[in-house]
Amino acid sequence: MSANSTTAQTHQNYIGGEWRAASDGSLDAHRNPARISEVTGYFPRSTDDDVRAAVDAAEAAYPAWRDLTAHARAEYLKRALTLMSERIERISRVITIENGKTLAESRAEVVAAVKEMEHQIHQGLRDLGEIAPSATPGVLAYQSRRPLGVCAVISPWNFPFNVPGRKCTPALIAGNTVVLKPASLTPNVGLEFTRLFADAGLPRGVLNCITGSGAGAGETLLGDSRIKAISFTGSTQVGIHINQLAARRLVRAQLELGGKNPMVVLEDADLDAAASACATAAFACAGQWCTSTSRVIVAKEISGKFVEALLARARALKLGDGLDPATTLGPVCGTQQMKNILEFIEQGKREGARLLTGGRRAAGEGLDDGCFIEPAVFVEAHPGMTIAQEEIFGPVLSVFTADTFDEAVSIANGVRFGLASSIYTKDLERAMSFLERTEAGLTHVNMMSAYKEPQLSFGGIKESGSGIPEGGRTGIEFFTEHKVAYVRYRA
Ligand code: NAP
Ligand code: MG
Repeated sequence: MSANSTTAQTHQNYIGGEWRAASDGSLDAHRNPARISEVTGYFPRSTDDDVRAAVDAAEAAYPAWRDLTAHARAEYLKRALTLMSERIERISRVITIENGKTLAESRAEVVAAVKEMEHQIHQGLRDLGEIAPSATPGVLAYQSRRPLGVCAVISPWNFPFNVPGRKCTPALIAGNTVVLKPASLTPNVGLEFTRLFADAGLPRGVLNCITGSGAGAGETLLGDSRIKAISFTGSTQVGIHINQLAARRLVRAQLELGGKNPMVVLEDADLDAAASACATAAFACAGQWCTSTSRVIVAKEISGKFVEALLARARALKLGDGLDPATTLGPVCGTQQMKNILEFIEQGKREGARLLTGGRRAAGEGLDDGCFIEPAVFVEAHPGMTIAQEEIFGPVLSVFTADTFDEAVSIANGVRFGLASSIYTKDLERAMSFLERTEAGLTHVNMMSAYKEPQLSFGGIKESGSGIPEGGRTGIEFFTEHKVAYVRYRA
């Protein structure tokens, strides 16, 4: 442990409106991915009792919160949003220190969260039901949406602020109460998120946050029979496990999972625009977006030029601590993540893909103690290779070439995932044909795979997701059940 570790703060869970240590006092240390010898803080390793207390608090808070009008609930949430806008710098620093992404990327995450949450609050005020013209005179027929009760939110470390916002806001505006379990790699971001609501005066127990491991506190939380819905973002492997837990109790699950997102670049594409979008979507946030581009499928006749343009962009990235304004590529999120990524790169080489740049743990001043990986570009990748099939979740891009449009589409679709895809072309007919055939929840034409807007849903197909998607109008749909009423008001 470095000298810094002695000054690292000890954090607490937020349960029933109080900041509390774990019931047995146990703590886990968190380390800065840019300097792994530095402990950034100590966080409660929540026990079964802590999890139970959080669900007790959420259960006790539910009736009064449910019975407020949506407008009254919105007032609390808007106050939290105002605090969020005031604390962008503070929150962004916490994101960078825990996750590693650059401060600019962290700020962009918080700004996006503000917009998404604003949208969900407004949605909650206007979209909670429908009236149907009744077939019987004198009857009012309508259907309204009712909250479910206590909901569990399990969030990942790659968008540790935005994802809790995207899940908790629709849950809360609809009248549910929430227990949030942030990823162990980003516990303080989850607590900072929660602090906004605590400081906004949200009634006690409406939002609770417990830290600890997924396999420990997370699994205990999901096993509590009082949990009425589970919203999870994370890996496909854990998502499938959670889906099984949920199915046993007929609890609904919203699963936003992994991706292996393709970009197709046809011979008539604007090469500069395509190369820029590809480099951004592959290497921003060190490739740790679920909607990153990790495979680019290029028309054979332009692949040489395209790869050149791509390499120039990859090589221009400046690795370093995300807090340094000169940094354009931060560390990956922790030693285990670094090890996994480097193993995938070695496997890619063993299976015969050619690494044109990067792919090593970076060394040098300011880098030796961190989880830094030089951005990697593989060429001569083939669809059967491990690096072509598995989500690497790091700054690693594989380039494929295709002789025909059909071959490009077939490579793009030839994986078990289906989150995001994109195509660069000026040919409207092939763009539309790609839109029809691409197997992805989100598709982009002449835009990068990671682009999104709050007013539309966000979710994957195939093994990238299951259940009603987040965001847009469906965010609230997931956290509500339909109640149908027929009212005879005239005989
Ligand atoms: P992960 O390992 O699946 O973990 C996600 C969350 O689940 C963490 O909070 C984790 O806690 C918790 N967890 C793990 N095992 C659990 C269990 N048995 N019961 C309950 N909770 C459990 O995923 P990750 O590594 O954090 O995140 C990266 C993955 O998320 C990638 O696959 C990425 O593609 C995906 N992702 C998808 C989207 C999307 O919208 N589709 C968005 C972002 C990320 P611990 O941290 O304590 O293990
Ligand atoms: Mg994990």
